[in-house]
Amino acid sequence: MNTRFRNGITALLNSSGMLDVCVALAQKHSKRSLTVLMYHRVITKPDPFFDGILLQQFDQQMRYIAEHWHPVSEQQVLDFYYDSKPLPEGAVFVTFDDGTEDTYSLALPVLEKYGIPGIVFVCQEACQFDGLLWTDELALLLKHSNLSVLDIAIGGEQYRFSLANEADKVEALWAIKSILKQLDNAERLGCLSEISRQLGELSADQRTGYMLTAEQMQRLQQGRVSVAAHTRSHPIMSQIDADVARYEVESSRDYLSDLGFVQQSFCYPNGRSQDFTQETKTIVRNAGYKLAYSTIEGVNNENTDPFELRRLHVSGLSLPAFKSCLLRSLIKRGLK
Ligand SMILES: [Zn+2]
Repeated sequence: MNTRFRNGITALLNSSGMLDVCVALAQKHSKRSLTVLMYHRVITKPDPFFDGILLQQFDQQMRYIAEHWHPVSEQQVLDFYYDSKPLPEGAVFVTFDDGTEDTYSLALPVLEKYGIPGIVFVCQEACQFDGLLWTDELALLLKHSNLSVLDIAIGGEQYRFSLANEADKVEALWAIKSILKQLDNAERLGCLSEISRQLGELSADQRTGYMLTAEQMQRLQQGRVSVAAHTRSHPIMSQIDADVARYEVESSRDYLSDLGFVQQSFCYPNGRSQDFTQETKTIVRNAGYKLAYSTIEGVNNENTDPFELRRLHVSGLSLPAFKSCLLRSLIKRGLK
């Protein structure tokens, strides 16, 4: 079905109220299902260098789930998988990845306004040392650069990126990000420092305030948003040795435990099925975790592997598209 036609049908179903009726019916027929929403950044205005969901759109989505679904907490998800406690009809769980500052300053007030619990998965290094996620560092370097061209060798290949205008910089950002994601940590850091050598280092002011502080994490927890681990440095787990993977998991667990956050849920960086392995799951389980979230698209039920929970990518969806995404995912799960 072409997108314009589908959007037209969705808008029609939404304005007639049929979409809400279909959602209610699907929820009734999909008892014991758990829909998990995945967010990263919440932003106040569009910025081509930083992806995220607009605050207004996030507010609309949260108001809708507060009114038409049943938002659940981390503990309810744990009780469902480990004590067979039923979830309410239309159970939905709100998750945030990475631990950027906006989870506290922008998302939390919305969650509190509607009484919605959630969880944030934080990257230890960037949070602990008031640093940057490497993707944000790259974005800022390109955004503030005055160079017109970047020449760089990555993994034995020579690349040339035009930085002549904002569109070129954004194109370079996405291309470099996808190349660097495939490298191991040491190689990636080497490339980043070469890029920053050419483009000019970021000032201390430009680098600071991007990630959650320990105090902000405490406030999130008080607002019923659990704080959980997303590794130390955000590597792709399937690409690192078992010893390094164990260190990444245990170090981030210890960092958050020492701050007083009980660690029961984990989230794989990047999270697609090729980004973690059976061995990764074993390492996470042996570190004491009971649940692990992927970025594999879908809705969960009692048969879903608790170390491979599915989520829905809903950033950037208009309210009708959001409703229809949740409906389609629920129906798909019900059919399996
Ligand atoms: Zn992440």
